[in-house]
Amino acid sequence: LKIEKVHLNALILDTLSRYSNAIQSKKIYVSTEFSKEYYVNSDSYLLSIIINNLVANALKYSNEKATLTIIITDTDNKLECHIIDSGIGIPSEDLSKVFNQFYRSKSNEHPEIKGTGLGLSIVRRLCTLLNIEIAISSEEQIGTKVILSFH
Ligand code: ATP
Ligand code: MG
Repeated sequence: LKIEKVHLNALILDTLSRYSNAIQSKKIYVSTEFSKEYYVNSDSYLLSIIINNLVANALKYSNEKATLTIIITDTDNKLECHIIDSGIGIPSEDLSKVFNQFYRSKSNEHPEIKGTGLGLSIVRRLCTLLNIEIAISSEEQIGTKVILSFH
């Protein structure tokens, strides 16, 4: 671990720029809501792996012209990052399993969407390592929201 002061706004914008091709080809409407500059004490490389995986999922499990919204808030001095998509969503009975290794929801329904089912299991381990709480909520056909809470 290399803990340092990480500029969260910049890390998110950098991640989004890496996915600009996918964003453009799928015509995803991306918006960010950062009301100020936010910093966290964290490992910037490991944190970027977390954000990368979550952005990749948001884009991969969305149809054309979906929205991707990333918000940073610090209400009550609790820093949170919200990653919200308007994609295909996850059935409620699958939500508790998405962090398991190799688990993929709706893979029969969407055989065209490829993946190994490892991304979120890695994300969960990295969150534990970095003392980040992760919560996921979703509604089918509406979208998915992931909340990272920094401690
Ligand atoms: P990869 O290892 O390439 O990331 P993956 O995306 O299938 O493969 P995970 O990132 O671990 O694996 O996600 C597990 C499953 O959770 C996915 O297969 C998908 O069914 C569901 N999922 C994850 N994120 C989203 C999302 N934003 N919207 C809808 N479903 C999602
Ligand atoms: Mg993934």
